[in-house]
Amino acid sequence: MMKIMDEVKGAKSIAVSGHVRPDGDCVGSVMGLYLYLKKEMPEAQVDAYLEKPAEIFGCIDHIEEIKSEVNTEQVYDVFIALDTAADRLGNAEPVYRRANKKINIDHHVSNRGCGDVSIVEPQRSSTAELLYDLMDPEKIDVQIAKAIYIGIIHDTGVLRYSNTSPRTLQIAAELVKFGFNFSEIIEETFFERTYLQTQIMGRAILESVRFMNDRCIVSMVSRRMMEFYRVTPKDLDGIVNHLQSVKGVDCSIFMYETGTLEYKVSMRSNGRVDVSAVALKFGGGGHVRAAGCTMNGTYHDNINNLSIEIAEQFKNE
Ligand code: 5GP
Ligand code: MN
Repeated sequence: MMKIMDEVKGAKSIAVSGHVRPDGDCVGSVMGLYLYLKKEMPEAQVDAYLEKPAEIFGCIDHIEEIKSEVNTEQVYDVFIALDTAADRLGNAEPVYRRANKKINIDHHVSNRGCGDVSIVEPQRSSTAELLYDLMDPEKIDVQIAKAIYIGIIHDTGVLRYSNTSPRTLQIAAELVKFGFNFSEIIEETFFERTYLQTQIMGRAILESVRFMNDRCIVSMVSRRMMEFYRVTPKDLDGIVNHLQSVKGVDCSIFMYETGTLEYKVSMRSNGRVDVSAVALKFGGGGHVRAAGCTMNGTYHDNINNLSIEIAEQFKNE
């Protein structure tokens, strides 16, 4: 297996970035690699670009060094895109495309690879897990370990989703040996919610509707609701997972309004529906059991359009 240090050897400037609306795996991977490269290449300029991460990730060391403004002039020797293809790098995308060497590391089935070097392994639980195996274990320290651990637990639902493999657990075991307070990290970054986050989740669950013989469930949060509860999209993470835990549900859909007739859609499934294939039809992507896209149209039009694709899959059962 290739090692990340062989690919960046000699570089004087390196950038690391991940996808828009960064989740735990994205933030953990970017920070884990950023800290690793800074330590291993003290002479080089190393930058991490990302949309401002949610406050829960404040426990990751040096997270305040993440740059949200991109230096559009700079041509990096190496640019590493994590947990996504180039199209979701946000304002870092043009800088990525201009870099002398592009490296893409990801675990999304929907990613065909977009680098001079692309390592896309869909069987990996998380980009963070894959990154661990591209690093030299001897050179990992407690700060790097914590960042990678956060990436793994967020994408595996704390090591319980079916993407968790024996290798995932071995790596998690190696990481907790560093002695950080993993149970506090799990509680504070994964389970804990503010009162308002809990309220809007309650409302979304209360207003959910099942359809297709109760095999699907859907709910939505409008901009007005977000204003009423004084929450932002970051506060809506996790709602779709609660919908998916309803007994008998094969596929769940959650959407929130991002603009006039525009919704960000999150989907989950128990494996009976390939939600990555559904999301791909609408320009999104993801994994078989977790995917997303952005859709234009009314809430009900979007449900109808998604239903057609889901029904197509039920037909093939
Ligand atoms: P979530 O529903 O938690 O936002 O995302 C679930 C999975 O689908 C994640 O792996 C995420 O990266 C991916 N995903 C969500 N939205 C999009 C999208 O618009 N495009 C692509 N390509 N992937 C997405
Ligand atoms: Mn991921």
